[in-house]
Amino acid sequence: MNTTSADAAAGRRADGERISRPVIFVVDDDAGVVRALRDDLTRRFGEDFRVIGELSVTAGLATLRELTDRHETVALLIADHDMGEMPGADFLARAHEMHPLAKRVLLVERDYSVRSPIVQAMTLGQADYHLTKPWMLEQHLYRSVSEFLAEWAKDQEAGFDLFHVIGGRRDPDTHKLRELLTRFNVPFRFHTVDGEQGRGMLAGRGLDPSRVPVMIRHDDYTMVEPATAQIIEAVGANARNDVSECDVVIVGAGPAGLTAAVYAASEGLQAVVLEETVSGGQAGSSPMIRNYPGFPHGVSGHELTRRACEQAWMFGAHMVFSQPTAGLECRGEERVVRIASGSRVTARAVIIATGIAWRRLGVPRLEALIGSGVFYGAAGSEARAMEGRDVFVVGAGNSAGQAALHLARHARRVTMLVRGDSLARSMSDYLIREIEAARGITVRLHTEVTDGHGSGHLEALTLHDKLHGRTEQVPAAALFVLIGGEPHTQWLPAAVQRRHGYILTGRDVARDGAHRPGWPLDRAPLPLETSVPGVFAAGDARYRSIKRVASAVGDGATVVRLVHEYLDAGNAGVPPPAAGMTGPPA
Ligand SMILES: Cc1cc2nc3c(=O)[nH]c(=O)nc-3n(C[C@H](O)[C@H](O)[C@H](O)COP(=O)(O)OP(=O)(O)OC[C@H]3O[C@@H](n4cnc5c(N)ncnc54)[C@H](O)[C@@H]3O)c2cc1C
Repeated sequence: MNTTSADAAAGRRADGERISRPVIFVVDDDAGVVRALRDDLTRRFGEDFRVIGELSVTAGLATLRELTDRHETVALLIADHDMGEMPGADFLARAHEMHPLAKRVLLVERDYSVRSPIVQAMTLGQADYHLTKPWMLEQHLYRSVSEFLAEWAKDQEAGFDLFHVIGGRRDPDTHKLRELLTRFNVPFRFHTVDGEQGRGMLAGRGLDPSRVPVMIRHDDYTMVEPATAQIIEAVGANARNDVSECDVVIVGAGPAGLTAAVYAASEGLQAVVLEETVSGGQAGSSPMIRNYPGFPHGVSGHELTRRACEQAWMFGAHMVFSQPTAGLECRGEERVVRIASGSRVTARAVIIATGIAWRRLGVPRLEALIGSGVFYGAAGSEARAMEGRDVFVVGAGNSAGQAALHLARHARRVTMLVRGDSLARSMSDYLIREIEAARGITVRLHTEVTDGHGSGHLEALTLHDKLHGRTEQVPAAALFVLIGGEPHTQWLPAAVQRRHGYILTGRDVARDGAHRPGWPLDRAPLPLETSVPGVFAAGDARYRSIKRVASAVGDGATVVRLVHEYLDAGNAGVPPPAAGMTGPPA
C-alpha cells in the first residue's frame, strides 16, 4: 500500500483509510504550559497530528517507548529546557534515540543572552529548533511549528518519484547524475544496476546493463548515459542560450551571481545568467548554512540558492545552465562573452561571479577514484550512503568541519585528516566545539593522505603521520576532500588582472587612479570593477573576498549598483580594446 509523506503527515493511506496520525509530543513539568501547548497545537494541527503532553521526564520517556513499540511516528519532540529531573537537551537526546526522524524542539524562556540554553543546544547539535515561552500570539507559534513540520515532512520518504535512476553505486557518472537531480530538487529513486529492481527495469526495456546511468522519467521517457544538458532539459530547465544581446551578462549562478541577477532584473536591466553546471554554486551543495542572517536554525544552501534562482527568474533574468563561458572580448563599448559551445552574448557590462574550484590532492590513484569513493566538496547526497561505514575528511577549514558533522549523522566513524597541528588556525570556534562534542568524529593532526587503494572504488588509504614519521594503511569507504580551491578565472583574458588567480577589483587595480599600468581610463575603477572598464567581479572569485555566502550575496547586490553607475555615466572615455582582451581561443 502506497502512502505519500503528505498522506502520512495527514494520517491517511492511499485508499483514504485513516492510519494513526504522527505525534507532536510535548513534555514540561509546568502543567499550564503543557495544557496550553496541547490545546493550541491540537486546535491548529489536530486534524493531521496527534498532540500528546506529559508532565515529567519519566512519564515522557515511558510514553515515547510505548510509541516506539507500537511503531508510531513522532514528528516533533518538544521539551522544556529545565525539567528538574533532567535538562531538556538530554531528554531530547534520549527521545531522539527512540525516534531518530523526529525534529527536536527546545522550549526556552525569552532571553536573548548567551546564557540561554538554546545557544549551547544549537551549537552542540542537541536541538533542531526552539520555541520561546510564553508565546505572545498563537499565530507566531503556528508559523514556527508549521515550519518545523514542513522540514520533518521533507525528510520522509517521497511518495512520488519523478525519475528512476539506475546505475552503479560507485560509478562517477551515476554520482554526477544523482547530484544534479538533488541540486534541482527533483524527487527520484535510485536503484543499483545489480539490484533486483534495477536489473528488472533495464531488462523490461531491453537495455544493456553495461551502459549506465539510465534515467527513466515517470512518463517512461528513458535516457541512457545522459549528457548534462540532456538531464537539465529533462527536468525542465534551460540549457540553450537564445539571447545574443542584453544589458548585463552575469557569469556564474552561485550566491553572488544569483543575487546580482535578482537585483539587476528587478531594477530593470536585461540580465542573462550563464552557468557552467546548475544554479547554487558551492553554497548549493552545502547541507546547512548556519551563519546566514535571518535563519536562526540554519538553512540548507540548496534551499537558499534554489529560492534565489526562482526569484531572479521571476524578476525576468534569463537563466541558462550547462553553459560554461570560455572567453571575454571588448568591442568598443560592448563586452562580448563567448560560451564554450561557440555562441556569444554581447552586453553593456559583465559581472564575473564564477567562484572557486576545489584544490586537488594530486595523488594519481585517488584522482582516478573521484566519484568512486573519493569526493571533492560537500558530502550532500553521499552522506546517507555512508551508513555504518568508516569515512575520512581531508581539510581543516569550515567546509571540512561541516562535512564531517554531516557525515557523522550517518557514518560509523569519521576521521578528519589535518596536515597542521590544530584546527583553530582555519576553523570557526563554534564548529570546533561541535566537532569535539560530536560522537564518532576523530581528528588526526599532522597527517597527510599519500596514496589510495581499491579496484574500481576506494577501499583503503595510506596515511603519513609527519610528527612520528609513521605510515599506515587504513580501510576507508570514502574520502571527502575539502582543502580550499582555485578561482574559476582561467578562461579570462590577461587584461583582467588577477593575483593567485583571484580577480583584482577597485583599489587593488589602481590605487592612484590613472597611475596603474593596465588601467586605461582617467577615472579610478569603481569598487568592484576589474582592470577592464565595464567588467565587474563579485563573490569568491574576487581578490580579498570573504568566502562566505552572505558576503557573496552582499557583493552581488552591491555590484549591480556599480553597474548602474557605470552605465549611467555613458561609458565615457572607454578606449579601444586593451591588449590581451580576446581571451583563450575557442
Ligand atoms: C561545503 C561548503 C560549505 C560551506 N558552508 C558555508 C557556511 O556555512 N557559511 C558560509 O557563509 N559559507 C559557506 N561556504 C562558502 C560559500 O558557499 C561560498 O563562499 C559561496 O558559495 C561563494 O559564492 P559565489 O557565488 O562567489 O561562488 P560559488 O558559490 O562558487 O558559485 C560560482 C558559480 O559559478 C559557476 N562557474 C564557474 N566557472 C564558470 C564558467 N566559466 N562559466 C559559467 N559558470 C561558471 C560555478 O559552476 C558556480 O555555480 C561553504 C562552502 C562549501 C563548499
